[in-house]
Amino acid sequence: MSEVYIFNIAWQEIVNWFLVQPIYAQVLVLIGVFAVLTLAVILVYYILKGVAYLVYYILKGVYYLLKGIGLLFYKIFEGLYYAISGKTKPVKNSAPEQQAPPQQQIIRQVKQEQEPIVPTQQSVQIVRPEVAYCSECGNKFTGSMLQTLQESGVAYCIHCGNKKTQAYEMSIESQ
Ligand SMILES: [Zn+2]
Repeated sequence: MSEVYIFNIAWQEIVNWFLVQPIYAQVLVLIGVFAVLTLAVILVYYILKGVAYLVYYILKGVYYLLKGIGLLFYKIFEGLYYAISGKTKPVKNSAPEQQAPPQQQIIRQVKQEQEPIVPTQQSVQIVRPEVAYCSECGNKFTGSMLQTLQESGVAYCIHCGNKKTQAYEMSIESQ
């Protein structure tokens, strides 16, 4: 009978001992071994997970470190290049592009605020006159003229003789 050695343990002796045990002891041993194996697997899983996170963040840190060093070298050599060649460093025109959108937004906002005001101004001009004036000569309407207009629907200006109809009356009454 060949003996199997794993981790310097005589497994054959353990198996022989296990086989001579009563059945309830074998069940208990199997449950115990299963529980230990499960715990070992969970433990190994979390250890590997922790190691993986550790390696990930180390690599990430190294990446940003190298990126920063590369950017630093780039700025240094760029500065040396412009210093040696005597050329002036071109100014990036990104600033006006960033300022443009807010101005357009302000113009849009002003337009949106102005649009509702226009109708109210027109309605004020129609409604507000407390005294009616002739649209032809500009003279003030008399009370009898307004009364005639309301009664017959047609009246004539006493100053210029211009005919006033029901439509003109309605515009007066809307005050
Ligand atoms: Zn008139």
